Amino acid sequence: VIEMGTPDRSVITTCAYCGVGCSFKAELNGDKLVRMTPYKHGKANRGHSCVKGRFAYGYASHPDRILNPMIRDSIDEPWREVTWQEALEFTATRLKGIRETYGRKSLGVITSSRCTNEETYLVQKLTRAVFENNNTDTCARVCHSPTGYGLGQTFGTSAGTQDFDSVEDTDVVIVIGANPTDGHPVFASRLKKRLREGAELIVIDPRRIDLLATPHMSGSHHLPLRPGTNVAVVSALAHVIVTEGLADEAFIRERCDWDEFQHYAEFIREDRHSPEATEMLTGVPAQKLREAARAFAKGGNGAIYYGLGVTEHSQGSTTVMGIANLAMLTGNIGRRGVGVNPLRGQNNVQGSCDMGSFPHELPGYRHVKNPEVRAIYEDLWKVKIDPEPGLRIPNMLDAAVEGTFKGLYVQGEDILQSDPDTKHVAAGLAAMECVIVHDLFLNETANYAHVFLPGSSFLEKEGTFTNAERRINRVREVMKPMNGYADWEVTQLLANAMGAGWHYTHPAQIMEEIAATTPAFANVTYDMLEEKGSVQWPCNDDAPEGTPLMHVDGFVRGQGRFIVTEYVATDEKTGPRFPLLLTTGRILSQYNVGAQTRRTENSVWHGEDLLEIHPHDAENRGIQEGAWIRLASRSGETTLRATITDRVSPGVVYTTFHHPDTQANVVTTDYSDWATNCPEYKVTAVQVAPSNGP
Ligand code: SF4
Repeated sequence: VIEMGTPDRSVITTCAYCGVGCSFKAELNGDKLVRMTPYKHGKANRGHSCVKGRFAYGYASHPDRILNPMIRDSIDEPWREVTWQEALEFTATRLKGIRETYGRKSLGVITSSRCTNEETYLVQKLTRAVFENNNTDTCARVCHSPTGYGLGQTFGTSAGTQDFDSVEDTDVVIVIGANPTDGHPVFASRLKKRLREGAELIVIDPRRIDLLATPHMSGSHHLPLRPGTNVAVVSALAHVIVTEGLADEAFIRERCDWDEFQHYAEFIREDRHSPEATEMLTGVPAQKLREAARAFAKGGNGAIYYGLGVTEHSQGSTTVMGIANLAMLTGNIGRRGVGVNPLRGQNNVQGSCDMGSFPHELPGYRHVKNPEVRAIYEDLWKVKIDPEPGLRIPNMLDAAVEGTFKGLYVQGEDILQSDPDTKHVAAGLAAMECVIVHDLFLNETANYAHVFLPGSSFLEKEGTFTNAERRINRVREVMKPMNGYADWEVTQLLANAMGAGWHYTHPAQIMEEIAATTPAFANVTYDMLEEKGSVQWPCNDDAPEGTPLMHVDGFVRGQGRFIVTEYVATDEKTGPRFPLLLTTGRILSQYNVGAQTRRTENSVWHGEDLLEIHPHDAENRGIQEGAWIRLASRSGETTLRATITDRVSPGVVYTTFHHPDTQANVVTTDYSDWATNCPEYKVTAVQVAPSNGP
């Protein structure tokens, strides 16, 4: 798509990979894209980008793009290319037939955190107003749903507390379960700058991440915990802070529920949370726990950044609440340099959750059981909204296997590759009568689909993404949709083929509807975004300029809430057959299952997924550097090459999940977070043995 030539116009848009939300300037000559460069006025990136974003244009015009709709009667048949009209009639007929035969709750939708706010809003409207149920879920289910729950319970709103600029005033930073230099590189650069200026670093991670090698740091702590023991480590830090009198009592008395704090303090003082007891559980030396707790409590402005290494656990929500407890204990909420900051993996995880794509919440995190909230949408949409929460992704798949869930619209998501326990996902998909995949490429999920609707890339989209700092950024159309229709139009066409009668003519109208119905977005318009460049929600009459910092004068829920965070060991146990613990992550040049990044020039940076294994574990098994190994768990097995490194501790192995040949999720379990069903990707008991290759 990039051609030589002199640009005669430019369009400012937003990267569609990670939650940093970097702005890019796309320069064109006529309709030809000449170059894309990071936009110097982008508020999230200030002229910087990473290798992923820089080469992202490449997948938009990749020859693998599917540009025409396809259908087939059964998944054993070859695809037939058809017109849009034929595809939509075929789809609507099948979905209506399923609804008549099996009832309205037999249909559902999975949307993606890669879609715009406007696309997501329409998809949940399709589910609620046309399918007439709440079976809408998002891939945030498998990443940050515990953030939504945990921060909602403790602070009252399901979002990070700070803007990225805040890090410039941080004195001590905890990074837990995140690897910013690979996952969120542009933010990581700002964090590293602050570390070089003197901020102290505490990393809680089973693996020695690159941030620990930042040159000229004044001090760093690494707590290399056993995978699955986050809650115990966070509680040990809180124990030291409370028992050594380091808690900020004035803040707690003024801003938090004092009775709940006292109950929590009694719990956390117990000896079982002491560093010595915690060392036994987690493998982190007691002295390191004490030093880190003191550094955080005494170090000035303390900020906590976390990622999927916190959320993708059976106690993901508990850890998020433990992190919130730590921030409140030390008074690190409500000003610059502090706060609780989830690093969102995908560009629009925040927006996707904001827009009501969870089965229990309408837009703005309002429960579907609330009749006053339902009435807002019932009046506008002229439909009755089901007051019962719908099915989450794993429940949809379970119901499909049981025979009660029959039709699924999957927009922008490859659940066969990205969701846990691949065999179970395949069984669920195979049991359905109509699977619609709406995507750029024929992905792995499409093997089980009856309808393929071509999607549009970020360069063909008009709308907004909301990044990890709640910043609503404009996404602008750089080129016309190559498939003929933008994704929001496809959703509208499908709704209308089922009899809806929607008449949106531009995503700006969808944003008007979002603003009219969602208090945190009340003052957001495309005109305002044009003028300001971007704005952070809440943006309404109380905060007309948006809200860079949350919970400044009080928590959204009123008083901050300390919640007792009892550590419960995961059911995934090591034993003689599966003696090692596998955990997973990303690499700088690749993104998630690699569907986009493998189709760009990034591929030269990283050819395959590798298994990191400690030298002792490799030697015990006779594994050489670069040799093929067989990685097996109770769920399944795969083959990949080994790399020997002491980045991981003995007993822990690590891999990435970017390549379909590896299919790392063949081995992951179906255990999930107790509150949200977020899968426990980060803890799998495995065995590793030499292999002759795939
Ligand atoms: Fe920025 Fe993330 Fe895109 Fe890299 S992947 S350019 S850090 S938004």
